[in-house]
Amino acid sequence: MYNKTIAELAQGLRSGEFSSVELTAAFLDRIKQHSGLNAYISVTEDLALQQAKAADARLANGDAELLTGIPIAQKDIFCTEGVKTTCGSLMLDNFIAPYNATVVEKFNHAGAVMLGKLNMDEFAMGSSNETSYYGAVKNPWNINTVPGGSSGGTAAAVAARLAVCATGTDTGGSIRQPAALCGITGLKPTYGRVSRYGMIAYASSLDQGGPMTRSAEDAAIMLQTMAGFDDKDSTSVDTQVPDYSAGLNNRLDGLKIGLPKEFFGEGLNSEVAATLETAIDEYRKLGAMVTEISMPTLKLAIPAYYVIAPAECSANLSRFDGVRFGYRCENPADLSDLYTRSRGEGFGKEVKRRILMGTYALSAGYYDAYYIKAQKIRRLISEDFKKALSEVDVIMGPVTPSTAFGIGEKIGNPIEMYLSDIYTIAINLAGVPAMSIPAGFAQGLPVGLQIIGNYFAEDRLLNIAHQYQQVTDWHQQAPTGF
Ligand code: GLN
Repeated sequence: MYNKTIAELAQGLRSGEFSSVELTAAFLDRIKQHSGLNAYISVTEDLALQQAKAADARLANGDAELLTGIPIAQKDIFCTEGVKTTCGSLMLDNFIAPYNATVVEKFNHAGAVMLGKLNMDEFAMGSSNETSYYGAVKNPWNINTVPGGSSGGTAAAVAARLAVCATGTDTGGSIRQPAALCGITGLKPTYGRVSRYGMIAYASSLDQGGPMTRSAEDAAIMLQTMAGFDDKDSTSVDTQVPDYSAGLNNRLDGLKIGLPKEFFGEGLNSEVAATLETAIDEYRKLGAMVTEISMPTLKLAIPAYYVIAPAECSANLSRFDGVRFGYRCENPADLSDLYTRSRGEGFGKEVKRRILMGTYALSAGYYDAYYIKAQKIRRLISEDFKKALSEVDVIMGPVTPSTAFGIGEKIGNPIEMYLSDIYTIAINLAGVPAMSIPAGFAQGLPVGLQIIGNYFAEDRLLNIAHQYQQVTDWHQQAPTGF
């Protein structure tokens, strides 16, 4: 039952093989059984069973959608009315949102069942899920390694079959990187494709929500529900949402794949590189033409991102002041003490580091030297992607330089941690969509292949991922014991 796709579960619900209440109860049991992974911050058992009951009624009435009665989970960055939304921080440990994020609203409308809220790096800042106030998440493939971040709870839960599928968000790789390290499928849509309303902001010009699933087929179904214009989000784009499942079976003959040489050079683990080569060979067999390309600005992505993202985060996180909502220190002496101690105690170390870096980069004396310079680099990177994607249909490459690293291995060295985002960050700066799909194993741990497409070409990416998943079974493999 836990290994079934959304379509198979929908079929089971309709044929009466099981009810949504039974399915939901089975997942809730599994969540309890594997609580050691620390994938969930909150398990919303009563709400889930209530939603499952309502879904069963809808199924009986014949007005159900594909996701009706399917147990899913939300990254704890999406506001959920009446349910605690922490963003992985002590700052929001007592925050109960008064409204639902648009994405949550859409899943509710589709009749999906929410099992709970998933663990994440604090305010989505991190690449290992070790910065969460609620503790590190464990990678089900090897519990001594990280699941990746910041959507680490989502990746671990989907890989360990503790939810059929779940949401993630990606500012610089937080959907793709944990998807790669946990052996699941993750899609970061084009900036503006999925509403950010009610998704707690980290770096607003980069943040984008998307699906994390076992297969591309399931990702198409999830994205169908998530995507679309939202007048509550001024950066959401008003273009038609295609039928993401319709083109999954299109053939790939003549598909032009570009491999940037900058992606395959120094720094990429050799076993990961060999695994990716085998995956790309599979695409050749499917009829694709593979050429080497060059994207010289890729190497500038990390420095540009680590100015822009902290700059935006320092502005976004100024709202957490101990006054309006969130954590407030005990017995403040005066207003200044209230601000200082509430923020000092409420935020973790990495978040404070980002606020400091961002405030510095935005300060009067350094604005031009850092922030404006980073914005100029961002433009060059976008131009590089536009040029490359006018010559090839998609770009492929690694998602991460290595497989999952050990818990504790990089947390003391921020630069090394930031370098683990080297293959994902440029995509957010350009705003294009990209996926990570399971492409094999190295040292016994999952390897992800990244597929990057043109603006709003999510349907094409899903098609390309699905075709690979028809001739390989990496995406169906489960970690031992799960
Ligand atoms: N690891 C990157 C960071 O720490 C990306 C995080 C994300 O995509 N939310 O900023």
